[in-house]
Amino acid sequence: MIQFNHVSKRYAQGHDALKDVNFTLATGEMAFLTGHSGAGKSTLLKLIMLMERPSAGQIQVGEQQLNALGRRDIPYLRRSIGVVFQNHQLLFDRSVFDNILLPLQISGFAPDDAARRVRAALDKVGLLTKEKMSPLALSSGEQQRIGIARAIVHKPKILLADEPTGNLDPQLSAEIMQLFTQFNRVGTTVLIASHDIALIRSMGRRVLTLQSGRLLSDG
Ligand code: ADP
Ligand code: ADP
Repeated sequence: MIQFNHVSKRYAQGHDALKDVNFTLATGEMAFLTGHSGAGKSTLLKLIMLMERPSAGQIQVGEQQLNALGRRDIPYLRRSIGVVFQNHQLLFDRSVFDNILLPLQISGFAPDDAARRVRAALDKVGLLTKEKMSPLALSSGEQQRIGIARAIVHKPKILLADEPTGNLDPQLSAEIMQLFTQFNRVGTTVLIASHDIALIRSMGRRVLTLQSGRLLSDG
């Protein structure tokens, strides 16, 4: 589903964020990406969704060779990927419902179909009763669940998360991980960047470890 072939990334200032990274994540797999701050985790995720381009090497996502994709292909690629951020990036000027609706509006879903999908997504994160609320009125754990609902509302084949539990205590973090496990169980390929070693160990999944841009270990 995701394949990196000798991928390097050098930012404009000349800093090597990734160096000759190789790995394959199979369809339906769930894995963690770890390493210290600055190791290259965010860069690796950004390359998968074409928020950045590699300086060298090839990346394949599903059937797509990303090098072959132009600017106009990016929206189509993004439809197959859901992304969860640490600070969830919810919009506080609108309801929970409208936050989750946003990606479907952008993709041009019919209103009825979109509303049904928003409620299905809310149901999956256990927050169906909160659709009319402002995200501001929710706890940080609930806000992150809304961020996850927004990421999966278009049923992406791939779910990426960048430090999704960075602001949460261990109990809430474990609950968020259960949600990712649940989406993985129904076939979604999941890649989660985290530096929370204890949490990652508790999951017993494959771990990709980056150190200064190099993939140190895989397993
Ligand atoms: P992590 O997510 O593991 O903390 P990042 O991928 O954010 O690592 O960063 C890897 C390296 O690339 C760091 O040294 C960082 O400073 C550098 N970097 C990240 N983004 C940029 C950018 N847009 N321009 C220049 N350097 C960057
Ligand atoms: P529909 O939109 O057809 O009513 P649902 O939203 O009820 O479908 O989901 C149908 C099934 O697909 C559920 O069992 C759901 O868990 C599963 N599913 C498959 N892929 C995903 C995904 N990426 N995110 C959420 N659910 C998914």
